[in-house]
Amino acid sequence: MSLKSNPKLELHLHLEGAAPPAFIRGLAKEKHIDISGIFDARGGYAYTDFWHFLKIYEAATSVLQSPMDFHRLTLAVLEESAANGVIYTEMFISPDFCGGRDLGAWREYLHAMTEAAEQAERDLGITMRGIVTAIRHFGPDKARETARCAAETAGRFITGFGMGGDEKICEPKDFAWSFDMAREAGLGITVHAGEWRGPEHIRDTLTALRPSRLGHGVRAIEDLALVDELAEQGIVLEVCPGSNIVLGLYPDWRAHPIGQLYDRGVKVTVSTDDPPFFHTSMAREWDRLADALEWDDGVFQTLNRTALDAAFCDADTRATLAKTLEQAYAR
Ligand SMILES: [Zn+2]
Repeated sequence: MSLKSNPKLELHLHLEGAAPPAFIRGLAKEKHIDISGIFDARGGYAYTDFWHFLKIYEAATSVLQSPMDFHRLTLAVLEESAANGVIYTEMFISPDFCGGRDLGAWREYLHAMTEAAEQAERDLGITMRGIVTAIRHFGPDKARETARCAAETAGRFITGFGMGGDEKICEPKDFAWSFDMAREAGLGITVHAGEWRGPEHIRDTLTALRPSRLGHGVRAIEDLALVDELAEQGIVLEVCPGSNIVLGLYPDWRAHPIGQLYDRGVKVTVSTDDPPFFHTSMAREWDRLADALEWDDGVFQTLNRTALDAAFCDADTRATLAKTLEQAYAR
């Protein structure tokens, strides 16, 4: 039986990375841009490894050129999420792709995305919040400009600041200024770490950037003392098992450490990262975990409650979501 219709909260989804390939192909055609090289024979995204994936990702985003494009993209992605039972989603959005980190342009893109999110909330019952995201391999100077965009637009819709991209470039402390600025603006903090680098990098990230959540963080499992520290400190992991498996971090679902992390008391949540790139969806992630780890409804309810506690949203939104879950679980 599929868990598709069960309510779900997702904390780790890259807006451009969630773009359906058909949507990107259609937009490229409208604009007469040739990006046929990024697709495989079946029309999906084609890449060989994580670093190639980053290149293909940036090529796909090259067709997203206006606030209206991002309005359409946001709606397309929210429709897909809602169809998978997602009632609340936090999406990473990047001023790098929305007007090249220019604050005036960013406000226009943001306005378009906010309108799309409000439309989806009315029509589909899915709530979205945005996490402004710096791209690590673009370097610390551009991250500062991104942080400024985040701080200037923090509010009901923009509620967090994060960083993704190539984890092997630069050190966490190089970005401390940007994260301090975002924190002072009242934004929640999450950082991708412990995907391509190990436990030491997770420790450096926690010290330098003080996030409440880590994107991935799964390689903490290589150091059980660190796993216990994460559990004690209540650091929440945004785990994306399907992404990790497709990118070759772990050979299969049974070998993925999410079960061990959960059993040892770490606050884990489940997300899809860049679903069409990894041939996944929230429903598929839950179904595969139920099969591989024999997780029952109680575990999935715990995942949702952990995500709800860790969500970067205001108290009213959290209370509304809590009520929705309560009603679903009372049935
Ligand atoms: Zn990610």
